[in-house]
Amino acid sequence: MLDVNIKTVLRTTKKHLEKLKEMGIVTVRDLLLYFPRTYEDQSEIRQILAVQVDEKNTIMGRIEKVNSIHTRTGKTLILGVIADQSGTLPVIWFNQPYLKQLLPTNKEIILSGKVTVQNGIRTMQSPQWERAGEKQIHAGIIVPVYPESALITSKWLRTKIHTLLPHAASFKETLNTDILTMEKLMSRAEAIKNIHFPESREVLEKAKERLALEEVIQLHTTLLKKKEEYRSGGQKFTKSIQQNPEMIKKFVQKLPFSLTNAQTRTITEIRDDLAKNQPMVRLVQGDVGSGKTVVAAAAMYRVIQAGYQTLLLAPTDVLVQQHAKTLETVLGAHDIKTAVLRGSTPKKEKETIKEGLKQGTIMCIIGTHAVLQEDVIFKNLGLAIIDEQHKFGVVQRNVLKKHGEPHLLHLTATPIPRTLAIILFGEQDLSVIDEMPPGRKQIMTRVVPESKRPAAYQWMREQILAGRQVFVICALIDESDVLEIKSAEQEYEKLKNNVFNEFSVGLLHGKLSADKKNAVMEQFAAGKIHVLVSTSVIEVGIDVPNATIMMIEDADRFGLSQLHQFRGRVGRGEYQSYCLLFTKSDTENSRQRLAAMVQYASGFLLAEIDLKLRGPGELFGVRQSGLPDLRMASLADSRLIARGRMIAEKIYAS
Ligand code: ADP
Ligand code: MG
Repeated sequence: MLDVNIKTVLRTTKKHLEKLKEMGIVTVRDLLLYFPRTYEDQSEIRQILAVQVDEKNTIMGRIEKVNSIHTRTGKTLILGVIADQSGTLPVIWFNQPYLKQLLPTNKEIILSGKVTVQNGIRTMQSPQWERAGEKQIHAGIIVPVYPESALITSKWLRTKIHTLLPHAASFKETLNTDILTMEKLMSRAEAIKNIHFPESREVLEKAKERLALEEVIQLHTTLLKKKEEYRSGGQKFTKSIQQNPEMIKKFVQKLPFSLTNAQTRTITEIRDDLAKNQPMVRLVQGDVGSGKTVVAAAAMYRVIQAGYQTLLLAPTDVLVQQHAKTLETVLGAHDIKTAVLRGSTPKKEKETIKEGLKQGTIMCIIGTHAVLQEDVIFKNLGLAIIDEQHKFGVVQRNVLKKHGEPHLLHLTATPIPRTLAIILFGEQDLSVIDEMPPGRKQIMTRVVPESKRPAAYQWMREQILAGRQVFVICALIDESDVLEIKSAEQEYEKLKNNVFNEFSVGLLHGKLSADKKNAVMEQFAAGKIHVLVSTSVIEVGIDVPNATIMMIEDADRFGLSQLHQFRGRVGRGEYQSYCLLFTKSDTENSRQRLAAMVQYASGFLLAEIDLKLRGPGELFGVRQSGLPDLRMASLADSRLIARGRMIAEKIYAS
């Protein structure tokens, strides 16, 4: 029955059916799975004597009089009086002339609407109404409110879904009986029925809980399957690497600094993974500068000592270069040689490196993702590390799997809350480096009121004269946006010709060619540009230790995680650095968010706050990462996510 086309069971027009199809609703099942957006609780029926002014009231009584009046402007008013035992109340409807015929007199009806005082008389305004009786669906109950369009109104949906409601009983259960009992969950059929027309608040909450949990469980189960897919290579896994505490000690001793607790914890987690008789699949999350590279190096060191080759992939040439420098020092201290392979590596050198990898004379290779596209053959690859910097990348697992199931370690600098990380990376085990190496200078962050702008510019001039450099971030490239966002080009002209005309001002945005972008960045890095005006393309860029001021226009338009990434562009050197936030918005939400920027330095904390205030879609990078479409579950609900995870693991284990 659920698979039956709605046109065979609903009386409606062709137009309605077409529109529904557009909305993805064709069968009875589809319509019953179209859930309310919210509810209006009209289940409390008040006596007329007790109605509250300026709020919504639900009353039950009889219509005593109905009149229609035509105004001079051609409108029709319907004026009625409703009475219950406690008194009478005038009711008014606008522009619904047919109501005069439709409203039943001398029958009990239920009305739900706002009561206001007009000319000293309390009046109910345009209430929803319905005959009192067994089958209330529009008034006097907890009324479902559906996402609607001009044609498919919430009222239309209520009527149609209500007629189909008996079919909800045909929905099959998806969870097993043990879990239903243990978790005290409502059955699926019951939940779907009650999500539309709940008998009470409590029942509605139970229905929501059941449907939300089901979504989370399904999500987790899919992720757990993905994890197994990588690990079920068929043949016996041979690359488990026994723990050797002495060896890690030796590695740590030669480091120029002592590790943070978070780094040590992560290294231990990796050590344990490597010793298992299945490949490691682990994600290390840590803010920029939290020291992920040395953690990666520790893993490489251990794997190389065990006789396997290691691979480190980074998204750009600049990052490959940076990693190569670090690893040359850290691994070089133990006489381990590193090789670098990039798209631009000369052909002859490439051949030599490939030969070295095939023969097993090169134990550590660093390269861009292009390395995997090449026909590289490893003698015995034991560990692949993927550094995605700020982007959520698609780990090229299938490609890596061909190299004999190496252990996988994925590094990311995108701070996202744990609940979300479990969803997005749920198929990987997760380590979080939530601690910075000691001695980092805090970046002083201020929200600057418009009245202080000239003073801020003056102060920036002094900083530039003292040798420092400035970033100015704007939200969009041109003026086409109706929202009056200051465009980078406009800002650039203003700063170059007026505010900072004694200095050199540069411009960077996404529409410049890659060469032009590089040229501008290089000039800035070389100190030839004092003030760099940029759109958000600056997020991932090279380090400029001399840049100490990050000024952000219309800061309220960015998510906190993104603002945090911008701020991370300064404070890379020895000088005290500053982040100045400008905004024209004075909403409570913007105020709270910018205050959080001033107060907190942790990207994780900021992401957590953004998740609560703006939802997951606004988190930096998350939108592109293919976040599943959840109808009932909220990703900000960490208890729900954790509960779903536990149940999914239980299901998966059995
Ligand atoms: P990211 O996590 O952004 O990749 P890096 O690994 O590049 O961070 O580390 C940033 C800087 O901090 C490097 O210069 C590194 O040598 C240094 N560093 C890493 N760990 C520590 C530590 N425990 N104490 C002091 N400095 C550290
Ligand atoms: Mg890094």
